[in-house]
Amino acid sequence: MMETEIRRASEILKILRENFTLPKWLSSRRDEFETLVVTVISQNTADRNTAKAFENLSKKFPITPEAISKADVSKIEEALKVAGLYRNKAKTLKKLAKLILEEFGGSLSFIHEMPFEEARKTLLSLPGVGPKTADVLLLFKAKKPTIPIDTHIKRVSKRLGFAPKDADYEEIREKLQALYSPKDYFDVHILLIMLGRKYCKARKPNCKDCPINNLCPKYREA
Ligand code: SF4
Repeated sequence: MMETEIRRASEILKILRENFTLPKWLSSRRDEFETLVVTVISQNTADRNTAKAFENLSKKFPITPEAISKADVSKIEEALKVAGLYRNKAKTLKKLAKLILEEFGGSLSFIHEMPFEEARKTLLSLPGVGPKTADVLLLFKAKKPTIPIDTHIKRVSKRLGFAPKDADYEEIREKLQALYSPKDYFDVHILLIMLGRKYCKARKPNCKDCPINNLCPKYREA
C-alpha cells in the first residue's frame, strides 16, 4: 500500500514540477529574524497585506531584535494595521525580539547549530511561534528536513487522499515527509501551495483543468 502511495506521490511531484515555475521570491535575502517577523505577520493574513505590513515596518525601524525590542508598541501596531490581528502581532513581535536578545544574544543562529528536533523545540517555546512558523524557519533558513503545512497544503493533502479528513498539522506533516524524500521537501511545500492557489481552491476546485486530476481520488470519485 505504502509503495503504491509513494509511486503516486512521486508522479504527482513530477507533474507539478513540469507545470509550475518556482517563484523568484524564493531567493529572498531575508535573514532569520526578518523571516520570523514576516511569518508572524502572515498568520491569518493574505500575502499582499503581509508584504505591505512588512514594508511599513521596515520603513519605521531596522528589522532587528535590538530595534524591535526598543520600539514603541503603538508604532509597531501602526505599521501592521493592514494585517489582521495587528495588536496581538505587535505585542508578540516586541516580546519575541526582547527574548531573542536576552536569551539568544540577538541571533537565531541556533537553528543552524542545534540538531533538528532540539532547534524545533526551542523555536516552539518562543512566544507566537507555532509549528508552521518554526517549520518555515527550519526549512527556508536552515535547510532542515521538514515540510511546513499551511492552509493550502492541508486542504490539498486531504483531497489527494494523503491524509484523512480530520488529520491535524503533525499528522499531515509526518505523512508527507514519509511519502517524499528530504531533498524534495522544499519543492513539495511550494508546489502544493501553488496547486492549491491555482486549481485546488478551497471553494470550487478546478478539477477539470488540474494537471494531476488523473492521480486524484477526489476527481476520480466525482
Ligand atoms: S483534481 Fe481537484 S481535488 Fe484533486 S488535486 Fe486537482 S483540483 Fe484538487
